[in-house]
Amino acid sequence: MLTIAISKGRILKDTLPLLAEAGIEPAEDLFKTRKLIVPSVCGEVNLVIIRATDVPTFVEYGAADVGIAGKDVLVEHNSDNLYEPLDLNIAKCRLMTAIVTGQELPKGKIRVASKYVSLTEQYFSARGQQVEIIKLYGSMELAPIVGLADCIVDLVDTGNTLNANGMEPLSLIMDISSRLVVNKASMKMKHKSIKALIEKLEIAVENRR
Ligand code: AMP
Repeated sequence: MLTIAISKGRILKDTLPLLAEAGIEPAEDLFKTRKLIVPSVCGEVNLVIIRATDVPTFVEYGAADVGIAGKDVLVEHNSDNLYEPLDLNIAKCRLMTAIVTGQELPKGKIRVASKYVSLTEQYFSARGQQVEIIKLYGSMELAPIVGLADCIVDLVDTGNTLNANGMEPLSLIMDISSRLVVNKASMKMKHKSIKALIEKLEIAVENRR
């Protein structure tokens, strides 16, 4: 039995077709069910449905053998105890700094709102820029509008959310896509089934290019 950790939201929509190509179909509609563990039709896989930011934790501690998570979440989580064997090339977007349209960053220490505290810290300290980071859990775009921060660090896809809130992207921090992550012990103990899963997903990813 393999346990795969996935999250609802943007990643799920892109993940399901890939899993289907690898022979894994949930026995229930994951967008509708309130269950947190859903078996696959084949009966060989359990899907655990959790928050995106919890995926690396579940996989790191072996609560799930395998998981699918965005590179943003993985870099922020920063664990040495995970294998990351495959870029699934889905849920692609950019991690960017963004600012109120037409404004410039003030001189000296700036305030940055983000849920990516560690990534934000690393990015600005590599540039010698002093920052005070305001940790938020969502609606980052609001922070500069209400004077809580000078800029934000967030994911940008179409740019529509920034635009709708009178903001614009400033600098690219990194390109993001979802990755397959594997628990190190599971990779040894369940090598055959995990290797087979990686190979099938690899083919599915390749077919989409
Ligand atoms: P957009 O308006 O298309 O630029 O999307 C930006 C909003 O969607 C922000 O709130 C982001 O946090 C979120 N977002 C965009 N792409 C992703 C992704 N691949 N995974 C998770 N959240 C995303």
